[in-house]
Amino acid sequence: MHILVTNDDGVQAPGLLALATAMRRVGRVTILAPDRNWSASGHVKTMHRPLRVRRETLADGSDAQTCDGAPSDCVAVALLGLVADVDLVVSGINPFANLGHDVTYSGTVTAAMEAVIHGLPGVAVSLDGSRLQQDYEPAANVAVNVVQSLIRHRLSPGTLLSVNVPGLPAREIRGVRITRQGQRLYRDELIQRDDPRGRPYYWIGGERPTGVPAEGTDFGALADGYVSVTPLQLDLTAYKQGQDMANWGWT
Ligand code: MN
Repeated sequence: MHILVTNDDGVQAPGLLALATAMRRVGRVTILAPDRNWSASGHVKTMHRPLRVRRETLADGSDAQTCDGAPSDCVAVALLGLVADVDLVVSGINPFANLGHDVTYSGTVTAAMEAVIHGLPGVAVSLDGSRLQQDYEPAANVAVNVVQSLIRHRLSPGTLLSVNVPGLPAREIRGVRITRQGQRLYRDELIQRDDPRGRPYYWIGGERPTGVPAEGTDFGALADGYVSVTPLQLDLTAYKQGQDMANWGWT
């Protein structure tokens, strides 16, 4: 089992090191991750500039490669030929949860989406952490369990898993729930200020988002102290809406 490990926080982020270290218990690990923070960069394909890849040494002395593209670019560069014989892509560990509508913003999740585009299973791992609580060990162990299950049972083609782990000590995590995407409540605010030349500029600010902890959702699982595992697919078609629209009297 050859596992490509990436993230969206940059190659030197502690969550990547924790994930890569844990994945070595499952198989051979190759690391190719962005050279800087691409959080909330979405599903990117860099087409209008070259991508550079260089060697990097992680905090534990292990070898990695880093690229000046987005997380999804890193996966594409690897799977289009830079890294041979990859079986699985695992992305993370993001320091904050990726829930509900976050998934198309998230560089962590879109890296796993890119794996699916190349015909491989992808797993995104995020910790529902706080700025004070950033212990990646429990989430890294959860990631090993999820990946071992995936290898044993196989994912359907076109599917990726978004794993969100409560920011709790391991003994307080109550188990795993298979979930659907819940309702994110963004609290973004448009901040307008003037630059030194008197021209307005805009910044998307505001409070950290919340969400609706409904039964069966990713938010609900975390609120109850469970790991949330959401199977995702890139087919965003609204099938029910399509059936309704067939009766709209198109000519
Ligand atoms: Mn991130």
